Formats: sequence, structure tokens, C-alpha cells
Amino acid sequence: LDKFSKLPKIELHAHLSGSVRYHTIIDLLNEELNALDSAEPQKIKSEIDLLNCLKNKPSISCTNSRSLSECFQVFTILHRLLNNLNILEKVTHDILQDFESDNCVYLELRTTPRNIYDQNRTKILVSKRHYLKKIINVLENFERCHKMRVRLLLSVDRAKGVQDGLENVLLANELESKYIVGIDFSGNPHVNSFQDFEQIFNICKENGLKTTVHIAEIWNDRDKDFILKKIRPDRIGHSVCLDQEEVEYLIQNPIPIEICPTSNLVTKCVHQIDKHPFFDFYSKNKNYPLTICTDDCGIFDITLSKEYELISEAFKLSHEQMFYLSKTKMNFTEILRWCNDYSASDAQGFDPFCP
Ligand code: 5GP
Repeated sequence: LDKFSKLPKIELHAHLSGSVRYHTIIDLLNEELNALDSAEPQKIKSEIDLLNCLKNKPSISCTNSRSLSECFQVFTILHRLLNNLNILEKVTHDILQDFESDNCVYLELRTTPRNIYDQNRTKILVSKRHYLKKIINVLENFERCHKMRVRLLLSVDRAKGVQDGLENVLLANELESKYIVGIDFSGNPHVNSFQDFEQIFNICKENGLKTTVHIAEIWNDRDKDFILKKIRPDRIGHSVCLDQEEVEYLIQNPIPIEICPTSNLVTKCVHQIDKHPFFDFYSKNKNYPLTICTDDCGIFDITLSKEYELISEAFKLSHEQMFYLSKTKMNFTEILRWCNDYSASDAQGFDPFCP
């Protein structure tokens, strides 16, 4: 058992495709490899190599780091592999099972609704709506016989452009599912700018959709001021490449931060775990709302407990301090109460966006 596996935890930053079990991804690639005649094997072998490189070794200093852009290649592979509703159902269920086994009591999964096409990319086999309905269906079934609560954020992928993002936000409104609690803005930070998406942020506000935005994953992120000062989302993800002035600004005007330690190491946003900006916030204000998250636990082959351990060892934080961190920063007692003895009214009272 991991050191923190018994600690009840919450996960607020987990991408669905990136959370597919590492071994499932490798199995699916091997199936492709075996099913093919000689045309593609080299490509698939290099994809397996890439995954091996991204897999995190459980050490404090990460030697397996890759650039952010290389990491994004993995999602193209994953989207190819997750190409029907049956497989989507299976991997989603496995993800929920894995988080619950790690004693996660509240999981907020996020995913970009996408159409699944036939091999020639001419015909839509599964629409965005059906993609989402399948995932919501898995969450519903899971909640019926498990204690962990699960909610969904719909992602807007900046690389796919404004129109695609708009469709996702409209879908969130149309589906009116209690499982959809907000919108995540993510995708390759080297592609496009979130400033182009201003109308989508406005639509979210007008429709009461909570927002969380990936920010400062790279040093030359030109969206930082726009997001921190103009948009002021309900939460922000990563937030590692901030200068001292920006850290001070956040300390004075806090926005809850979703910290993803291994992800930041693997993608070279942070070079050493004991230099992680988590501590800039934590040391200056013990009450700053910070939550430890996994980001893409399947790709990195990690668990939430391991992420807790990484932070606790790097900054010499005791078990109690880690517990206190989760408990106070994100309404933890409320979640515990809710999960131990939940009822519909408890569920309504809990808002993970308002720590
Ligand atoms: P999906 O939305 O397909 O369930 O999960 C994969 C998607 O999440 C990727 O295509 C990408 O848009 C987003 N994503 C996953 N990890 C990261 C990350 O570390 N940074 C950013 N900016 N986006 C990510």
C-alpha cells in the first residue's frame, strides 16, 4: 500500500483519456500491432516507446521528462485507440474503480467531447452527444453501487478552435445533467490563445457554468494576465510558470489551484520536485486553496496517493499536514460527511468549486 492510500482524497484535475490505465493503453497498441501486416508496425513500436518514456519512475527527480508537445502526441494515439463506445465504457469504469481503490472520495473527471469517425474519417460513427451520454451513463451506474462521488467537466481544447469549444459548452447546457459541473479550458498551450475564446468564457458566466483553466504550463504563456485578471475562473490548473509578481498577485487575490506534480516534472515545466511552486503558495499562505491532482495518471502510471507522497517528501510535510491540506482547502469535511452518509440534500450542499 502507498503511504497515503488510506487517506480519503479528492481529485479535481484528471483528464479521461490520460487516465486510461497504462497497461490498457499498451495492450490496445499491442493488439493493433498484432492485427496489422507489415505496413504500420514501426509506427506502433515507436508509439509504445513514447509511452515507455512518459511513464514515471517513482523517484523524486524525474529522468523521463519529455517536452509538452511530445506529450500531446500521446493524446492523438489515445483518441485513435478509444474508438468505440464499448471501449470508452470499459476504460471509464476502470478509471473510476482505480480512483476509488486509492480511497478517492470525490473525483472530478474532465473530457473533451469528440466525434468518433470511421477509418476514412468521412462518416461520424459516434457523435459528441453520444460520447458524453455514454460517459454520463457509466458515472450513473457507478454511483448506484459505490460510495465515491464522480462529476464531469467538459473540456474546451484550445487547439481545436473556438467553434469546437462553443459546441461543447452548448452541449453542457443542452444535456442539463447533474453530473456536468463545469467547463475546463485545456489543450496544447503552444497552439492558439485563450484570448480568442473570450466569448466562450462569457457564455459560461451567463449560464452559470463554473470554469477551470490551464494556465502557466509554459514560460511564454501570453494568456496569464487575461486569465488571472480579466476572466478570473473558479479554479486554475498547473500555474507553475509564474513570476514572483504573479505569485504575489494570486496570494492577494486567490484562485484555487490544481497542482499536478508528476505531470509538471515529466513535461519539464518543473525540473525538480523540491522546486515546485506549490511551496511558494503553501509557505506564504497555509490557507491558500491548493489541491494535489494527477492530471493524466494512466500515461504517467501514477496514483493520487503517490502524488501526495511526492509533495509530502519533497517539502517535508507530515501525514497530518497533508491531511490538513486536503481537508481545509477544498471543503474536505463536507465531502467526507457526504460520502459516509450521503443523501440527495447533502449532495446539493457540496460545491467543489467553492473551497
Ligand atoms: P480527453 O479530453 O480526450 O479525455 O483527454 C485528453 C485531452 O486533455 C488532451 O487532448 C488535451 O487537450 C488535454 N490535456 C491532457 N493533459 C493535459 C495537460 O497536461 N495540459 C494541457 N494543457 N492539456 C492537457
